[in-house]
Amino acid sequence: MSPAPLHPTTRAAHAGLTVDPETRAVVPPIHLATTFERAPDGSYPAGYQYSRSANPNRATLEAALADLEGGDLDDEIACVAFPSGMAAIFAVLQTLAPGDHVVAPRDAYYNVALLLRDHFARWGVGVSFADMTAPHEVAAAMTPATKLVWIETPSNPLLDITDIEKVATVAHSGGALVACDNTWATPLLQRPLTLGADLVVHATTKYLAGHSDVTGGAVIVRGQTDTVERLQTVQRVAGVVPSPLDCWLVARGLRTLAVRMRAHVENALALAHFLDVHPSVERVHYPGLPNDPGHETAAKQMDDFGGMLSFVVRGGEAKARAVANGLQLFTQATSLGGPESLVEHRASVEGPASLAPPGLLRVSVGLEHPDDLIADLSRVLDP
Ligand SMILES: *Cc1c(COP(=O)(O)O)cnc(C)c1O
Repeated sequence: MSPAPLHPTTRAAHAGLTVDPETRAVVPPIHLATTFERAPDGSYPAGYQYSRSANPNRATLEAALADLEGGDLDDEIACVAFPSGMAAIFAVLQTLAPGDHVVAPRDAYYNVALLLRDHFARWGVGVSFADMTAPHEVAAAMTPATKLVWIETPSNPLLDITDIEKVATVAHSGGALVACDNTWATPLLQRPLTLGADLVVHATTKYLAGHSDVTGGAVIVRGQTDTVERLQTVQRVAGVVPSPLDCWLVARGLRTLAVRMRAHVENALALAHFLDVHPSVERVHYPGLPNDPGHETAAKQMDDFGGMLSFVVRGGEAKARAVANGLQLFTQATSLGGPESLVEHRASVEGPASLAPPGLLRVSVGLEHPDDLIADLSRVLDP
């Protein structure tokens, strides 16, 4: 009898850990060397030649992320690490050729939409934006040239939930691959490759590193050796590489990811329930609330509902910004996934093309005690 597969929590706790055979150090060293000795027979005995091509800390991180996203799939799972989430996304889009077409979410991460609309249009890659919560709209947006369908779930900043399985079926029937940005959910809460996605993208900057002190990205691919080779060309040949220290820090973050996510989710749920019934709040976007339009799909495809939420303050932009300015435990800053709670007025950050309602505040719920966070919100929201 083969042993039961390990839980994601256990895999994460052991991410990147092997005892160093020389020193017996329990935590791996950081390899800053740029070059590695060649043997008399011309080989590279440890498989490393030059740090742009491959580095031990990068290889460790890539193996750990492939393991976490791959779950118990039997297919070949590859991971290619990048120096930022956007570099990872850029590399995925560079696997396309002139004449290809992408279907992307209407409320995609702002810079993804920007790249597709402005940059890749000049390289002859077409794009259509669709409401990913309606698989028939995805089908309608596809053309014979569609090679990639982009999913982001939960989405930013409206926390829309896309049914990964349904959209993957639509995409595959039209001959397109599916890429899913899994930054907000993390592989602890959602594993898109096991739901039919071909590629998963991460800004490791966020929950995976988890301390607001590393910028990083990664692409994890199920099968699709051509795509993996193209991604590796961008990384190894074009030199879009994360530093050994950054890879080491992300791998360290993975080891506490499970317990951090548990606390992020618990706190987000407490805040969502508090905000949901508050008279100064018009609407809460959080898939963990039973009345949220994405609740049912999220419950089906996620192990839990995540640490991000947004809410619309009654009174529009002026009132929303006054609330953000008045909070003391929430730092007014962009980004997410760190121990500290962050609040952001999205519409003014994104500019005129933003889909965020003027009264919307996005919250990255941190690891503080939820009672303290609720007391802070209560103080500024109460009229
Ligand atoms: C932050 C983020 C990115 C971009 O990652 P960077 O590391 O900032 O380049 C992409 N997608 C989502 C969902 C993000 O939150």
